[in-house]
Amino acid sequence: MKDEQKQNILQTVRGTRDITGNLYYKKQGFYEHAQTIAEYYGFQPIETPIIEHQAVFLKGVGEHTDIAEKEMYSLETAGGDMLALRPEGTAGVMRAYIENGMGSMPQPVKMYYGGPYFRHERPQKGRYRQFYQFGLESMGSSNPILDAQMAHIGYLILQESGRKITLKVNTLGTIESRKKYLQELTAFYTKNAESISAKDQERVHTNPMRVLDSKEPETIAVNANAPVLSESLDDESQKHFQSVLSYLDDAKIPYVIDNKLVRGLDYYSHTVFEYFTETEDGTSLALGGGGRYDGLADMMGHNKSVPGVGLGLGVDRVLEISTETSYLASIQKTPRAFLIQQGAQAQMKSYKIIEALRGADIAITHGREKDGIGAQLGYAESLGIRYALIFGQNEADTDTVMVKDMLNRNQETIPLSELTHYLLHLSI
Ligand code: AMP
Repeated sequence: MKDEQKQNILQTVRGTRDITGNLYYKKQGFYEHAQTIAEYYGFQPIETPIIEHQAVFLKGVGEHTDIAEKEMYSLETAGGDMLALRPEGTAGVMRAYIENGMGSMPQPVKMYYGGPYFRHERPQKGRYRQFYQFGLESMGSSNPILDAQMAHIGYLILQESGRKITLKVNTLGTIESRKKYLQELTAFYTKNAESISAKDQERVHTNPMRVLDSKEPETIAVNANAPVLSESLDDESQKHFQSVLSYLDDAKIPYVIDNKLVRGLDYYSHTVFEYFTETEDGTSLALGGGGRYDGLADMMGHNKSVPGVGLGLGVDRVLEISTETSYLASIQKTPRAFLIQQGAQAQMKSYKIIEALRGADIAITHGREKDGIGAQLGYAESLGIRYALIFGQNEADTDTVMVKDMLNRNQETIPLSELTHYLLHLSI
């Protein structure tokens, strides 16, 4: 093996990372918090595979989107199946809704989920190739109250980060009014084809909305005069959007209307929204977003429309901007004491103490594999634990334990039968 190859296998793949220690706990705490809020709002868990048929996403997010054209990790199996690692959550959940006949359940079907997603993007701060999302979907109803509820729940989850969250909302209107708008937009760009960049000229015929988002200077200049979507909205679109806004007003969720917000994917109609926070250097960081996707099931080839609305939150970014105590995981315990044992008999019997304390929900740390008292005390001190439970030959014989306060060096002998009670009343 070449030296270079040896080095590569000892490094994570570019854009991926190991999640350990506090970051792991924080991530776990975020999911617990988000899931709890989702459960309160009547959502139920779903876990779909990380790998799906490539077409689920090509048809779902649209073939002429950045995700489909550049960012999707695709692979061909030995049997010739074209598969892909999921780049986003909604298309897979819609596939599950259709495949599992959820259309015959009481509607809407409300689901939450989370896990890793994959996009081949240029890695940078806050952008990974394997990143984590928490998502919600409500499928089977076109009621605008659900659009507002979705934006509301995401806001509640993010609020726990301790940061100021800005919610931006916009409407893309019904599929029909959007079609009309796309015709106008295509006509406008065709008329101005000479003045926009070559790359954008191609996009006019595949996904004209993306030209609106263009970073090419000559296109930006032309875009100043491009037709505005909100001006081609029909009555139904206006009414839907007004209802969403009034529900948000009623829930006292602050929002900003941003008529440039389009989101990248083909499946959206009506409401779209995104959450931002300002970072220390004054830039705006996108923490998540979502919207209504009434045309998605049709795009995926289903014989029935399934109106729906969903939300995806970027977990990596939320963890980066949140405080240490924002999202505490219930699995993380603060040990009340450190158990030190000495001698074969004490070592053998110490598991009984550990189990009795676990039964009483008292977390302790221990080093049963260590023998010398000095080594164990040193370990306890390095962990910053105040109380040591010393269990040696003498204590094992008399069913007692010596509790030592490492701060003032006081010590006290306690019968094992009273230990649980004693520890529960110690201030740590
Ligand atoms: P999207 O639906 O693409 O807007 O993604 C929803 C959220 O996921 C974004 O607002 C980001 O917070 C997060 N996100 C998307 N792509 C990445 C990535 N490559 N790395 C980290 N977070 C991401």
